[in-house]
Amino acid sequence: MSNKEQEVLEKYISQHNLKITKQRRAVLEAFLNCEDHVSAEELYKIVSAKEPKIGLATVYRTLSLLTESGLAAELDFGDGQKRYEMNYAHEHHDHMICTECGKIIEFHNEVIEKLQEEVAQKNGFKMTSHKLDLFGICKECQQ
Ligand SMILES: [Zn+2]
Ligand SMILES: [Zn+2]
Repeated sequence: MSNKEQEVLEKYISQHNLKITKQRRAVLEAFLNCEDHVSAEELYKIVSAKEPKIGLATVYRTLSLLTESGLAAELDFGDGQKRYEMNYAHEHHDHMICTECGKIIEFHNEVIEKLQEEVAQKNGFKMTSHKLDLFGICKECQQ
């Protein structure tokens, strides 16, 4: 496992008087190794292959710890389940979501980024973060 991420999590956990357990470590490890935009249920399936005694609640709780500590970002594409992706030392990007097959495409566009800052500035708004989700039908599903 990447030591840097483990360090961040363990620091956060000790600062909040929580315990770093074998199960929490297993969730972090699986999260770091899995594909982006994973749901708690998907991650639970992966982790429980290694840690059969782990419960879904532990996976949920650990994912919120990861989010609170800044390691993970929580995503909600309106399909009824939260998804998570690595946030730590990762470049900012936005998402396109196919409403047919559920595919998630990442993109980064400097012009859009700048425009958002301009809009915020014009409104005297100090933007600290943003999320931009485009919903539609992907190339494959259009055929
Ligand atoms: Zn599609
Ligand atoms: Zn993403």
